[in-house]
Amino acid sequence: MEAEKSRERTGPTLRSSKSSDKQHNGEENMVDTAEAEQLIRQGLGRRGMRRPDPSPGRSAASGSPHDSRAGAGDVLSEGIQGYGRLTQSPGLQRLKLFLNMTVSPILLIAFVPNLVIFIWFSVVHCDGSYWTMLTKLFSQRSIITGIADMWRLVNTPSTPVISILTAYGIYALVMMRLLPGKMVKGPVTPKGNVPVYKDNGFVYYLLTLSLFWGLTYILRPYGYSPSIIYDRFDEVLFALNAFSLVFCLFLYLKGLFAPSSTDSGSSGNIIFDYYWGTELYPRILGFDVKLFTNCRFGMMGWALLVCVHAVKSYELHGFVDSMFVSVALQLIYITKFFWWEAGYMSTIDIMVDRAGFYICWGCLVYIPGLYTSPTFYMVSQPVVLGLPLAGLFLITGALAIWVNYEADMQKQMVRGSNGNCLVWGRQPELIHARYCLENGQEKESLLLASGWWGMARHFHYVPEITLAMCWSLPALFYNILPYSYVIFLVILLVHRTFRDDEKCARKYGSFWQQYCKKVPHKMVPYLF
Ligand code: NDP
Repeated sequence: MEAEKSRERTGPTLRSSKSSDKQHNGEENMVDTAEAEQLIRQGLGRRGMRRPDPSPGRSAASGSPHDSRAGAGDVLSEGIQGYGRLTQSPGLQRLKLFLNMTVSPILLIAFVPNLVIFIWFSVVHCDGSYWTMLTKLFSQRSIITGIADMWRLVNTPSTPVISILTAYGIYALVMMRLLPGKMVKGPVTPKGNVPVYKDNGFVYYLLTLSLFWGLTYILRPYGYSPSIIYDRFDEVLFALNAFSLVFCLFLYLKGLFAPSSTDSGSSGNIIFDYYWGTELYPRILGFDVKLFTNCRFGMMGWALLVCVHAVKSYELHGFVDSMFVSVALQLIYITKFFWWEAGYMSTIDIMVDRAGFYICWGCLVYIPGLYTSPTFYMVSQPVVLGLPLAGLFLITGALAIWVNYEADMQKQMVRGSNGNCLVWGRQPELIHARYCLENGQEKESLLLASGWWGMARHFHYVPEITLAMCWSLPALFYNILPYSYVIFLVILLVHRTFRDDEKCARKYGSFWQQYCKKVPHKMVPYLF
């Protein structure tokens, strides 16, 4: 990483570095990480926790000195008389921190690895029905006994499965290093670092898919099929879960003892540090961890798994149009993702979430286990759609992917060209927003207030949900399981609109308010 030379500015008083502390929190974390991140930056352990200085102009809440109202405490207390004072109480503060930083992470770490196994169990042992799964596992039994019985059906990973996963991991790493690509810069971090990435994701994606289909074709006459991954998916999930849990422990220790950059630190709470991570951009032997876990393993694994499902479905039933539509849409979406991979480096997953259980387990296990669930389900529950319905889902889904892509690109293009570009054929409407790094340096960023970003502040989540719906709908309505991903996505993205708004309000203060005034809706124009 190289420290970015930033322009020092004179002019109005800047936001204190304390106030900027809050700008890069875990914005859509499942637990409230804002205070934790603040403490990490202050180098305080749990015992040293305290509320940020509430004095005007130095408010941790304040986005800028021009506006001291948009603070974390104030956001919470808005409209609730007395709540602010109540939450200042040290006892309640401690309780809140204990719940957020210890209880919730423990519950999540203990529970979520089971979620992907529930999906597998429901598909393989319950005809894709959650209801049957719940009855089988929990009727007249305790939750723990039910879960233990389910795990008893999960096979420990066999040699072929371990070999395939290991070979794939090594292949992904080698390709990260070997494939050509120009070096691109990620966004400046709160500590002023600028990570650099090799932009070879798209070549990697094309090469990997070509190898997959090539090997499938060549090895077929010898009795080898990638559908072994479908048949032994319990082993795959077991192996990924086990690996990820240990890997996150390694990342936790690495961040403490051998951090790759200054964007690291501990909250003083082991549980929380394991859950949230101790480093923003860890690198091991020069390999960027999040690029590997999120893109080269998680997203590529998603593409490969839906191809495996297509192969398995073909072996069992021949051509099935519903499987075709779902696989085609997911592949178009993932192709778009890799085409735009450099842009992904400026998203919340990368610039906000630390490399801990939350994001790394999510990408290594949740993406393969949950995101692929529609086609995993459809292998054993084939549906014939007919041309009109198949065409409708395909076209609507492809349009939604395009809109989502265009929205991401508009933001990237405007920032990349410093506003010297056209958005929907016109000069973009821009807000030149200023903010501070932790060291007090002032920076400027562009907020786009036209194009898709003029419709609503997170309008791009609408096509994101629509496209996921379009690749789930081919399963029709016999069970809720193929909609698990969409349901999860709606919760995730609606939650994210709040978290991101809060983060941007802290970061940009009055500039963000200016944007909110101009674009008043969060996600759906005139509705929400
Ligand atoms: P965004 O791409 O929306 O990035 C949010 C950041 O963009 C903000 O924190 C802010 O960062 C900047 N920003 C906000 N408003 C503006 C604006 N008007 N003009 C310019 N910059 C702005 O976030 P996500 O990471 O959530 O989404 C990225 C992509 O990933 C989307 O396509 C989304 O649909 C997809 N996604 C998919 C998920 C899945 O599981 N399938 C989950 C989440 C997202 P800054 O600090 O730089 O100003």
